[in-house]
Amino acid sequence: MMTKHLERAAVLYRYWLTRRGMGRLTDRASLERWQEKCVRAHLKWVRRESPFYRELWGDVDLSRWRELPVIDKTAMMDHFDRLNTAGIRKEEAFELALRAERTRDFTKAIGGVTVGLSSGTSGNRGLFLVGKGERLAWAGTVLAKVLPGSIADPHRIAFFLRAGSDLYGSVDGGRIRFDFYDLLDPLALHLARLAKRRPTLLVAPPSMLRLLADKQAEGKLRIRPDKIVSIAEALDPSDRARIEEAFDQKLHQVYQCTEGFLGVTCGHGTIHINEDIVCIQKEYIDRKLRKFVPIVTDFSRRTQPIVRYRLNDVLTEREGPCPCGSPFMAIESVEGRCDDLFYFPASDGGGWVRVFPDFISRAVLAASADIMEYRVVLLAPDRMQVQLRVPSEAAAEARGRVAESIAGLCARLGCRAPEIEFADYWFAPGGGKLRRVERRFAFEPDPGSIR
Ligand SMILES: [Zn+2]
Repeated sequence: MMTKHLERAAVLYRYWLTRRGMGRLTDRASLERWQEKCVRAHLKWVRRESPFYRELWGDVDLSRWRELPVIDKTAMMDHFDRLNTAGIRKEEAFELALRAERTRDFTKAIGGVTVGLSSGTSGNRGLFLVGKGERLAWAGTVLAKVLPGSIADPHRIAFFLRAGSDLYGSVDGGRIRFDFYDLLDPLALHLARLAKRRPTLLVAPPSMLRLLADKQAEGKLRIRPDKIVSIAEALDPSDRARIEEAFDQKLHQVYQCTEGFLGVTCGHGTIHINEDIVCIQKEYIDRKLRKFVPIVTDFSRRTQPIVRYRLNDVLTEREGPCPCGSPFMAIESVEGRCDDLFYFPASDGGGWVRVFPDFISRAVLAASADIMEYRVVLLAPDRMQVQLRVPSEAAAEARGRVAESIAGLCARLGCRAPEIEFADYWFAPGGGKLRRVERRFAFEPDPGSIR
């Protein structure tokens, strides 16, 4: 059994390694060389320890690892028992994770391995395993990349999450005080607690940050964190503006999911992929718009190896290099899930036109300055609900303008606009992730039919 003291040393060691690496990996060529070496060594280990990958890859030469078969969440879950290297069965992992969510006690593990459950519909949830050493290394990496200033300074971290996990427990101790806020708790409780704790680092999904920003603007919350980080949901430009204004500072982002700690913003607000722990290949959806789906190979995780794993996310790459000079891949935005791409029928002939969520967001926000918040939900291919939060006297006009704006967007893209029904904005934090642009039905058009 590792003592608390040794655990702390492990976190600090990784923190130091990560900060040192960030200082040393300064040009693209040396980063790529180093990364290639790490990936190959890791895959050699994975081939030996994971029966699933061993069979999937056969005796392919690992210098050609970039051509190995791509897997996704379904494959990951279907082959769970033989993919993980800890000999954990899917049934026992599910049982443990569901019990933890019910009791809100996230400290239980199977032989030192923590089980996490990704969000999703009940039949489509992913299970993720993190070993003890990996957990400590993860904590060290996150602190190195997210903590403002030095780990030796005192920090008070407020972390909002839908479901907790013992992952975060390991960060606590010493000069770092870590408070976990359950998104299911009422807002009034959060406000009281935040006022008392006065966090120096505030980490929450943008939907919660937005609520806190509104309270801050109303004077019902008065906190001055050194840094605010948005996590777990796609960040909408309207939310970013409101949060930055209310707290009078730049909003940072962490791009992290159960599949890994994938990216974090630099001082310029650009998201950089954590290429010192993961390698991302781009599967372009639209090269001209620089939009792609990431294929992730994580060379830091051993308990549940993630190799050539297609994430269900749409990212937009940054057009030019980031002024910060980091050689790590720069991302303009994490747009959300592939499942939230809209497809509208082409206005001439057959086929479909793909409409990206950010097109919809921009069309709605550009329609009227009165719109404080919105949601767009595609209910059927030809039926869309638009929820708006606007002052009641401006509602009728805003609705008319949004309808015009969406019709204009569809005309430019050459597709038929759906029927729009309007409703008042509604969202309850804690119930699920906020997706401002959301498709409520499964639809995968034949790639040949997309214009
Ligand atoms: Zn940068």
